[in-house]
Amino acid sequence: MHAWNARKYGDQVYAAMFERVLWPVWDGAIRRRETRKHLSYLGRSQWLEPELRRKEELRALISLLSYAGERVPYYRELFRASRFDPRGVRSAADLEVLPLLTREIIRERYDDLVDPAHRATNLKKGTSGSTGNPLKFEYSPESECWRQAVKIRGYGWAGYRPGKKTFYYWASVSSAEPTLKIRLDRALRRETFVDSMRQDEAARWAALAALRRAKPDIIVCYTQSCAQFARWIVERGFRDWDDIPVICGAEAVLLGDRAMLERAFGPHIFETYGSRETMLMAAECEAHAGMHLSEENLLLEVLKDGRGALPGEAGDVVVTDLHNYGMPMIRYLNGDVARRAGDEPCACGRGLARLEQVDGRRADTMIDREGNAVPGIVFHVLFSDARRELVRQFQAVQNVRGEVTLKVVRGRDFAEDAFEHVTGRFSHYLRGLPFRIEFHDAIEPHHRSGKLQTIIVERNPPSAACAPAETAR
Ligand SMILES: [Zn+2]
Repeated sequence: MHAWNARKYGDQVYAAMFERVLWPVWDGAIRRRETRKHLSYLGRSQWLEPELRRKEELRALISLLSYAGERVPYYRELFRASRFDPRGVRSAADLEVLPLLTREIIRERYDDLVDPAHRATNLKKGTSGSTGNPLKFEYSPESECWRQAVKIRGYGWAGYRPGKKTFYYWASVSSAEPTLKIRLDRALRRETFVDSMRQDEAARWAALAALRRAKPDIIVCYTQSCAQFARWIVERGFRDWDDIPVICGAEAVLLGDRAMLERAFGPHIFETYGSRETMLMAAECEAHAGMHLSEENLLLEVLKDGRGALPGEAGDVVVTDLHNYGMPMIRYLNGDVARRAGDEPCACGRGLARLEQVDGRRADTMIDREGNAVPGIVFHVLFSDARRELVRQFQAVQNVRGEVTLKVVRGRDFAEDAFEHVTGRFSHYLRGLPFRIEFHDAIEPHHRSGKLQTIIVERNPPSAACAPAETAR
């Protein structure tokens, strides 16, 4: 007991030292200062009366719109054509005259969307998107500070703090081994990374060993693969640890996932909603009643037939990133469908509006020859890696015999060698499943229960459902 207390005490001291000493030094004086400034603001603003806080957000919105209208060619043209004056904006409703920013527009008008003054300093990223249409985009270093601050606060609702021992059961996007700098950074932050896309028996044993070694204070994971890992732990009775809070990302948390994660890691399970374009948009608090929006960093609208959706009504997510002046994204239609919660205050006391749920953020799970899971989201992960537009659209289908077909529409920057590099990595994750690639000029969208599907796993009709494991062959 004594030794245990001493270790816990040592952990607390390290976390405090990390926050006050190591992090500031390691993270670079300027970026750290900005991130910490925003973090300190966000710590206060979450408790403010919404009316008070929204005045500040309206100021940020008008400032972004004014900047974009003056400096960024696409918006200069758009505002002029629609006679839109940012100075007249009094609420989000005033943005309704502006058309939505679609992926197609971003692709076609990319250069006109980047602020010339930020072109040299912007950070460049890519996303596979939830609809199988990869996209590249940029954001300013100032926006990165906001993104980091918002993430730390949102994760903080689950108990996370920089320097606490964090176990990332996460998809590794990069194919390269982590550099010395990254490894050192992770060691200082006391972060352990395990690739959650590998779900074979050997990988699970390795993940379990890493988890036991790390003795984490908190787990950050891809929802479905962690729920599958949790099931494996529960079925074999491997749990020998106290409760560990779990922060779920990348995919929606369904009731079954939550139940399984609770059995493996305890009752503190937190859903988050983010994307590569705008990072953390919403996160669950300790009241577990939906996800609070990061309203200080972004304006999120839920639209149904062009008007604001009612609470509980499913609608398209439209985001305006308030602090990205490097490539302003104003009313960006991100492809997700979500439902707002009602306006009644959350039991936690925070004034931030909430999302009730985000629909359809699930990729089907494929099965390998041994019956082990192959997370379908791996296709999204690997296509996110590309900074070039290698593919314009993709769809992966596993038929009942287990064969996987990846359908692809070539992108603007398609190159044989780069594409083969990515598809070579798929073969690694598919572990010997027959895999072929088909090139198409266009791919028919696949809908199931009204939701667009990028990963499709064909199942036997119910009458054949009790057939033996041959279905995996
Ligand atoms: Zn709350």
